[in-house]
Amino acid sequence: MSTTIGTDTDREGDTMLKRCGCGAAWRTLEHLLVDPAVSLLGFQPGPGAETEGAYLFNHLTCGNTLALRENTVGAFRRAN
Ligand SMILES: [Zn+2]
Repeated sequence: MSTTIGTDTDREGDTMLKRCGCGAAWRTLEHLLVDPAVSLLGFQPGPGAETEGAYLFNHLTCGNTLALRENTVGAFRRAN
């Protein structure tokens, strides 16, 4: 694994979008989406119609599942 991303990302209150249990982290959704070690698993609807769902990603490096809130992804899509 590359460690070049870790230099300024370990402080509290950082701006990382998502951090995996294995220590990997992604600053933005774009970084996560282009990471070949991250695979989209699917979409998990929220428990109610008014509850946002989550996009599930598999971190192939460690096998953990990453969940990104629907609004997080939606904001990215609208911005692009
Ligand atoms: Zn991981």
